[in-house]
Amino acid sequence: MSTRVRTRFAPSPTGNLHVGGARTALYSWLYAKKMGGDFVLRIEDTDQARSTKESVQVVLNDLKWLGYDWSEGPEVGGPLGPYYQSERLSIYKEHTERLLKAKKAYYCFCTDERLEKMKEEAIKAGRPPHYDRTCSHVSYEDAKARLEKGEKGAVRFKIPSGKDAYTFKDIIRGEVTFPSDMVGDFVILRSDGMPVYNFCCVVDDALMGITHVLRAEEHLSNTLRQMMIYESFEYPLPTFGHLSIILGADKQKLSKRHGATSCKQYEEMGFLPEAMTNFLALLGWSSPDGKEILNKEDLIKNFDLDRLHGAAAVFDEVKLKWMNATYLRELPHLDLWKRVEPFLASAGLPLTSSLWKDSGWQDKTLSVFKTSMETLKDAVPLYQLLDDETFKIQEEAKEVFTWESTKAVLAEWKKQVEGHTGDDFTEADFNTMQDAVKTNCNVKGKFLFMPLRVAVIGKAHGAELKQLVPCMKKSSLLRRAEIVSKEI
Ligand code: GLU
Repeated sequence: MSTRVRTRFAPSPTGNLHVGGARTALYSWLYAKKMGGDFVLRIEDTDQARSTKESVQVVLNDLKWLGYDWSEGPEVGGPLGPYYQSERLSIYKEHTERLLKAKKAYYCFCTDERLEKMKEEAIKAGRPPHYDRTCSHVSYEDAKARLEKGEKGAVRFKIPSGKDAYTFKDIIRGEVTFPSDMVGDFVILRSDGMPVYNFCCVVDDALMGITHVLRAEEHLSNTLRQMMIYESFEYPLPTFGHLSIILGADKQKLSKRHGATSCKQYEEMGFLPEAMTNFLALLGWSSPDGKEILNKEDLIKNFDLDRLHGAAAVFDEVKLKWMNATYLRELPHLDLWKRVEPFLASAGLPLTSSLWKDSGWQDKTLSVFKTSMETLKDAVPLYQLLDDETFKIQEEAKEVFTWESTKAVLAEWKKQVEGHTGDDFTEADFNTMQDAVKTNCNVKGKFLFMPLRVAVIGKAHGAELKQLVPCMKKSSLLRRAEIVSKEI
């Protein structure tokens, strides 16, 4: 019987989820889904100064926004918890004791000054700055007695002798070999009693039955220490995959310098989680048929560890915008409106007015606007055009008032609006009114179109009036026409 696949995402909660972290979470989630396995969320919060309740919540919210639901972990629990490392200290302590008793680890009482000096000397002499094992001869009993008396000691892992190298097969990088002497006896439990990442990670992955560890490339070098720890407990090694690095458009490692790097920022910029997921999936993986637009179901169906690749991935925001626009335009209008609403609300638009609350109007306006939207936030300037309160004649538009024909054009437009029966306009209504202005004032081209635009939206350029006017009420057009006619 094959083992049930169990993947995990193990963030250290130190702020918003970075897009790289989100990609790691996504691949782990996808693989678990694909294989009908479990996706475990573990919070690596042993750095208590940096991990607050709030910072954990931020990461959980980001994952929820993306929709990567975990089968075990915070909020949902599970049989192999706790899922916060800060609540697992007794487990690490017990594991440390096991290694101490088996002489696979020992207490070290060296002071920081001594360690620093030893390191400097080693570097000067051209030796690797490994710990010189001074304390490896302190027996377990003596160490306990010293601790009892109040001395501070850390626990060091003893690098096993008799093995020159450690080799494992990385899903992405193939066979990776580390010479054993790359590391010296390393600390697994600090003198303040806090265990270190490499130790907790192994203990947890082993006890939580994790079968596949997907994580950032920067953790590749940690794998040597981790393999040694697995071996010392005789725990089976999981399958590792170290994901390719993510670069900015300039081919440098993606950083704040490039602009937005966290999921939250993209959310605030008006990106959809669906688009973000599709985009992240392709940063290090490709679909077998080369398709680029793949929703979650497609991704789950097609995802395969074999197609993860090690080449650096470039975070191309232009592509992300294109994907976002694609997803956005596919959304049912009811759903799209719900997502656009918070952006309109924070721009102070009149969402509570009866017109803006009308679902027929929402549907009509979205059909007009969505083709001009790449992000949800792009809706703001478009809807602003329909807000009477902020209607204003733009400076650049004032040129139209210097043309001789404008006064008559504006007066005729106002007359046409006044004469319209009913409160709403169709595209045909608008065309008829515009034609009437054209004939009655004997104007055409920019002398017709630009003053009309100013009369409707306060600007001489942009927006197709034949699309916009049907989104407006007679009272609104009249009010605007009056404001504009006062300008001349
Ligand atoms: N807490 C580590 C990180 O956030 C986890 C690394 C791992 O997946 O092993 O980078």
